[in-house]
Amino acid sequence: MNRFELARAATTGQARELLAEKPASVLKAGGIDLLDHLKEHLIEPPRVVDLKSVRGLNTIAAEPDGSLRIGPLATLAQIAAHAAVRKAHAALAQACGEAASPQIRNVATLGGNVLQRPRCWYYRLESYKCLKKGGDVCYAVGGENRYHVIFGGGPSYAPHPSNAAVALVALGATFVLEGAKGSRSVPAGEFFTPASQDPERENQLGPDEILTEIRVPAAAGARSLYEEVRERAAFDWPLVSLAATLTLEAGSVKEARLVLGAVAPIPWRVPKAEQALVGKALDEASASAAARAATIGAAPLSDNGYKVGLVQTLVRRTLLSLA
Ligand SMILES: Cc1cc2nc3c(=O)[nH]c(=O)nc-3n(C[C@H](O)[C@H](O)[C@H](O)COP(=O)(O)OP(=O)(O)OC[C@H]3O[C@@H](n4cnc5c(N)ncnc54)[C@H](O)[C@@H]3O)c2cc1C
Repeated sequence: MNRFELARAATTGQARELLAEKPASVLKAGGIDLLDHLKEHLIEPPRVVDLKSVRGLNTIAAEPDGSLRIGPLATLAQIAAHAAVRKAHAALAQACGEAASPQIRNVATLGGNVLQRPRCWYYRLESYKCLKKGGDVCYAVGGENRYHVIFGGGPSYAPHPSNAAVALVALGATFVLEGAKGSRSVPAGEFFTPASQDPERENQLGPDEILTEIRVPAAAGARSLYEEVRERAAFDWPLVSLAATLTLEAGSVKEARLVLGAVAPIPWRVPKAEQALVGKALDEASASAAARAATIGAAPLSDNGYKVGLVQTLVRRTLLSLA
């Protein structure tokens, strides 16, 4: 990797100043994805600004109204083990608890997980100048694409890599971003940006902005679940994942939010599957109808047609587990 200066920020304001002082500098949280980028020469920043030295960014607060305020530096392990998160926002605890390995979860942060870059092997290899690196080709289209997207592809086909992002969209979370002009709040469902908007980015975080808080609204009677399918039981990224939140009233589904992961360049909400559930009892018939509706519009590449069947099975099974 290139030689760089390590700067430890005491406040988020100082972190932004340190970033702005030397163009192409980067922020570090746990450093898991960032160090991969440095080691693979995907980025060569003059300065790495460490956020771990900023106090108070790693708290998880369960508010009296049932909502959560989570600092971006809270680790995946802390969130997975947190009693209030597990009780009322199970999908988030499960998504964090399923990611990577115990060692990585002890270091990796929620903010870093949501902001990590795609795992596409063409993007990760220095020698391929793909669309995500300012090139003009997505090598997955005519190449090895068994882990790539079946929804929302084009011009880039790399799937969004974050478990936590899928759960946060399903739970209706909000991201608080701090920049030179102050703070702004962006709903998780709008934060992630489609590949067609700009293939070099996966979200709307500005170059001078820091993610300073993740707010999760009260569950208000909704139950949630996160499930994934991966090739091996040991640490691995999911082939497909699903976060579901459901509110039931008098035995039938009042509200449903289903979000798929690892199948699109962003966490992928499936409204037709949600509609297949609303007003119905949560049973084999409605779960199967939702499972079929979840893959309407799927457009697999040459090697990933298997994801269509996997999504259907995962949706059906997860809904029946929630029932
Ligand atoms: C073997 C292995 C298996 C894995 N399996 C999974 C998996 O199954 N599911 C999954 O979701 N992930 C998986 N991961 C990815 C891992 O969880 C992420 O790399 C990690 O969560 C990133 O968090 P971090 O704190 O280390 O982020 P960093 O590497 O420090 O940062 C990541 C990016 O976010 C930016 N950033 C971080 N915090 C902020 C902030 N507050 N404001 C603005 N920008 C910020 C950084 O500049 C950088 O660009 C795996 C990783 C490995 C190595």
